[in-house]
Amino acid sequence: MVEIPGLKLLVDCGMFQGSKTERELNYRTLPFDPGHIDAVILTHAHIDHSGLLPKLYNAGYEGPIFATPPTIDLCAVMLPDSGHIQESEVEYLNRRNGRRGRDMVEPIYTAKDAVETLTLFRSVELGIWQAVGRNARFRFWNAGHLLGSASVELEVTTAGRTTRLLFSGDLGPEYKLLEFDPVGPADVDYLICESTYGDTDRIDATKDGRRRALKEVVMEAHHANGALLIPSFAVERTQELLADLVWLMERREIPECPIVIDSPLATKASRIFLNYASELEDGDLVVHAMRAHNVRFTESAEQSKAIDQMKGFHIIIAASGMCEAGRIRYRLANWLWRDEGTVLLVGYQAAGTLGRILEEGATMVRIRGDDIKVRARIRTLDLYSGHADGPELAAWVRNRMPIGKAVFLIHGEAQALEGMRNRIGTILDPDKIFIPHLDSAFVLTAGGMRDVSTLVPPPRIDPVHTGQRDWHNDYQSLLLDLQEELKRAADDKARAVVIRKVRRALAE
Ligand SMILES: [Zn+2]
Ligand SMILES: [Zn+2]
Repeated sequence: MVEIPGLKLLVDCGMFQGSKTERELNYRTLPFDPGHIDAVILTHAHIDHSGLLPKLYNAGYEGPIFATPPTIDLCAVMLPDSGHIQESEVEYLNRRNGRRGRDMVEPIYTAKDAVETLTLFRSVELGIWQAVGRNARFRFWNAGHLLGSASVELEVTTAGRTTRLLFSGDLGPEYKLLEFDPVGPADVDYLICESTYGDTDRIDATKDGRRRALKEVVMEAHHANGALLIPSFAVERTQELLADLVWLMERREIPECPIVIDSPLATKASRIFLNYASELEDGDLVVHAMRAHNVRFTESAEQSKAIDQMKGFHIIIAASGMCEAGRIRYRLANWLWRDEGTVLLVGYQAAGTLGRILEEGATMVRIRGDDIKVRARIRTLDLYSGHADGPELAAWVRNRMPIGKAVFLIHGEAQALEGMRNRIGTILDPDKIFIPHLDSAFVLTAGGMRDVSTLVPPPRIDPVHTGQRDWHNDYQSLLLDLQEELKRAADDKARAVVIRKVRRALAE
């Protein structure tokens, strides 16, 4: 939230993802009065940036939501889909709560709320100055991260002095299949910069390197002769994977097989990509891939269920990318316990999500209350990430210099933020680099900056509990370990010993 005399605005209004402790924040009342917000500037359509807009609307927000035209089109399918997910998660939870005699919960918002929120969107093209209130204006710069994604340059004039702020939004990598490289203005006072991969160096992230790595996993899955499951964000990642898979098949680099896109959202998003194909880098590859004869899109739940019957080698791409929701959970339940299955994780997996737990080599996982043995191969390929890696982030920051007052590093786990701080500490005065925590507050002027976090309400959750596994994750893995231990025990007598030891430990 940016507050200037006579104007309060939000840059993004995203949903917390990751551990249960963090996601729980989505259900709480917002930490400000939504009726007092004058405008929202949205960097891009990803749910961690747009996902609480319907909640904001429900809570009484009536102002404009400024976004680029493709962002608006993507939000028109992504927000109602998110509402639908909220509704079905809560429905499932309430069935369980009912059985356990617990209180019922309400969804954060519904698909209908999300559709109504869309009426607040106002389109702003890249590079065009847009006034907000009397003393501020902003313009969007291509961020190269997702169709429509943008950085926000905000210019505020108070008492005759102008302060320039730049919000990076999420930044794309150099060799992203469909997006042109990110750009931005130089000479700003304050930079608020994402740091997702601040500690990572991805040397192979070229188009060829990516296709080579994908081919390797496809060949392995082909050899195992089962499904290759690719949990993937429905928007852009799915279209990129599809384009590369068809590209490899047509060049006979990998064997041809059925490719199923098992995600209604991906189907809708793909149509939006077709509409903007001419504005994308290599947009024709997506158009071509979507029309390939072996590519199928499932719509109904029945069509989706039917693909569990498919035998032999085939590829299924389904949402969500971190395996937390969506149809991929059904496909995983059907394939994880089989030797023939292969799972390819292609994106960033937040701490505490099922995707991260698989990535870390869990041998047993719990999906919708069922414990499932992991026998399928788990492979990861982070080359499809929509985020710039450490060196690319640092290069982007360098191109924004001179940076007059301060850089705030956000949008990253502790290690990534520290990695980023070290990386840009060589090109910028380290005293100018700050890592704020959730609910931090600063006074920014053209003259300098002051941390006023102690003058505002305390953070909603302790900063040490953000961006990592929480006790829910630890509890789940403890239960699974205990189960394994009991199963491994030689006989009932040995099991009784294990239980007695645990009880003794509890008593202590
Ligand atoms: Zn994003
Ligand atoms: Zn993000």
